[in-house]
Amino acid sequence: MRLATIRLTQEGRTAAARIDGEDVVLLPFNDVGELLSSGEGWQERALTEGRREQLSNVRLAPVVPRPSKVLCVGLNYLRHVREHGGDVPSYPSLFAKFFDALTGPYDEIVLPAASECVDWEAELVVVVGRSTRCATLDEAEAAIAGFTVGNDVSMRDWQGRTSQWLQGKTWEASSPVGPALVTVDELGGARPDLAISCVVDGETMQEARTTDLLFDPVEVVAYVSTIVTLRPGDLIFTGTPDGVGMARTPPIFLHDGQVVVTRIEKIGQLVNRFLARRPTGQRSDP
Ligand code: ZN
Repeated sequence: MRLATIRLTQEGRTAAARIDGEDVVLLPFNDVGELLSSGEGWQERALTEGRREQLSNVRLAPVVPRPSKVLCVGLNYLRHVREHGGDVPSYPSLFAKFFDALTGPYDEIVLPAASECVDWEAELVVVVGRSTRCATLDEAEAAIAGFTVGNDVSMRDWQGRTSQWLQGKTWEASSPVGPALVTVDELGGARPDLAISCVVDGETMQEARTTDLLFDPVEVVAYVSTIVTLRPGDLIFTGTPDGVGMARTPPIFLHDGQVVVTRIEKIGQLVNRFLARRPTGQRSDP
């Protein structure tokens, strides 16, 4: 099953939707996070019939616009650890984003005037389907609803200001997620083996398989759940492969007008144009 959150611009709200071929079927929930939070049986509720729209006519919001948590794992692909220049980590390198950092799968992204080093990070993103705390590996596996595509867009000059990365990782409206939550049954389980790539203006910059992850999605969910309750709709960015702009010689960063395509086999792709203009103001909707 493929689920998305669509923007009903004229109605001033979002809605959860099931993607059915070329159509989306609107569900009686404001977004995918609310559907998942409706408890056991959300899969059946997601099969409800409702108003249909053509997929090509709707605008997609972040697949979960306001998760209670957005966790991220750094340094989780061996070749990325090598290009970053460190030792293989003994534990997942965790950091977080606020949900304000999320943006839609086809949205334009502002290159902030305050940063000259905006970089890409294609990532497989876990979508949590049920609350779990201190999970065993089996419980962690059962807590994963499915996966989506994310780009952990990073302002490297800000990320590197201190040993903590937050200020370079949670810039407002900079991290696209979507286009859909694809449930685990369609991806061969909670440790999927999928091609992941990032293409900038037609040039492939990152290319790997999600089985290259050092800490797989199930291990990461179990690990995080030791610390805090994971709730339905929470997102976990699982880390990026090698090929980021910062690690190149010389480094390459995004500039005005460039288009970044972030793709994961069987899930879909994000297409985001980066623009050097100032944000117009406070955000009002996802
Ligand atoms: Zn990342």
